[in-house]
Amino acid sequence: MINKLCIIGVGLIGGSLARALRAAGHVHEVSGYGRSIANLQRAVELGVIDRVEVSLADAARLADVIVLAVPVGGMAEILQQLAPLLTDQVIVTDVGSVKGAVVAAARAALGARFPHFVPGHPIAGREQSGVAASVPDLFRHRRVILTPGTETDSTALARVRTMWEAAGAETIELTAEDHDRILAVSSHLPQMLATCLMDLVVRHDDHRAILDCAAGGFRDVTRIAGSDPVMWRDICLTNRDAMVNALRQYHAELRDLISAVEKGDGEWLLATFSRAKHARDGLNKKN
Ligand code: NAP
Repeated sequence: MINKLCIIGVGLIGGSLARALRAAGHVHEVSGYGRSIANLQRAVELGVIDRVEVSLADAARLADVIVLAVPVGGMAEILQQLAPLLTDQVIVTDVGSVKGAVVAAARAALGARFPHFVPGHPIAGREQSGVAASVPDLFRHRRVILTPGTETDSTALARVRTMWEAAGAETIELTAEDHDRILAVSSHLPQMLATCLMDLVVRHDDHRAILDCAAGGFRDVTRIAGSDPVMWRDICLTNRDAMVNALRQYHAELRDLISAVEKGDGEWLLATFSRAKHARDGLNKKN
């Protein structure tokens, strides 16, 4: 059980974690700190947090666990501001979608307190953002990837693991590097494809006719194009190498597809569609 939890960035993910832990009775008090007081007051009205922290100093002094739930591009600055305010008792964790850059920022900012930083990433989300979109069951039966290093304090790691389990999630561990390489394909690449398809269509001369004729397939594939632009800009900027690799692989696959269509290579097309269908059917059975 966490006595005092402070969420920095009470939006979709931070708000959902607060709601889940409150529903599970795993936290005694939740406070929130962020950019705009209006958002934090809304979070109090919605019953997501108990209290607004007006300064980072209070957030650091009063909390047992601090969760950084701001966009990845904002993490370094907050970690730098937090560093001189932390005591050895405070555990800091994050929910950022990229781990290498956040771990590097935490190492640089926290110095001797770095072992009490536990990097994390819940593999759960939705295309809406903000505290009003937060829900208590967002993490139920979902995975949370923790990327501790050799220096990570084992007690801090165990407390963060228990926190996520109380929120209904299963935790797994990866290195930050493996996380960023794998998520570049499983999460970041699908977002890029949805975004590019939507952007291509809206800029197309026939975009009205195309959208009028768009059915479930188009909606399914482009659903996540409605996700928060700041979050995705930050992910692109902080997971650059792994994303460029994933995009290049996809580019090569598209080149092969173009060539097969151009040449009328039915054998290649049938083999590729069949392989993908088999893999996708398997995914349906697994879930
Ligand atoms: P969100 O709903 O937009 O919430 C972000 C919150 O952070 C907002 O309350 C915002 O405050 C606050 N904020 C932004 N910049 C800040 C700064 N510099 N200092 C203090 N507060 C700041 O975003 P989210 O979807 O919850 O994403 C939060 C984190 O979770 C990101 O790191 C993202 O990579 C990660 N994540 C997201 C998903 C997803 O599907 N959305 C899934 C897994 C992980 P204001 O309201 O005042 O602007």
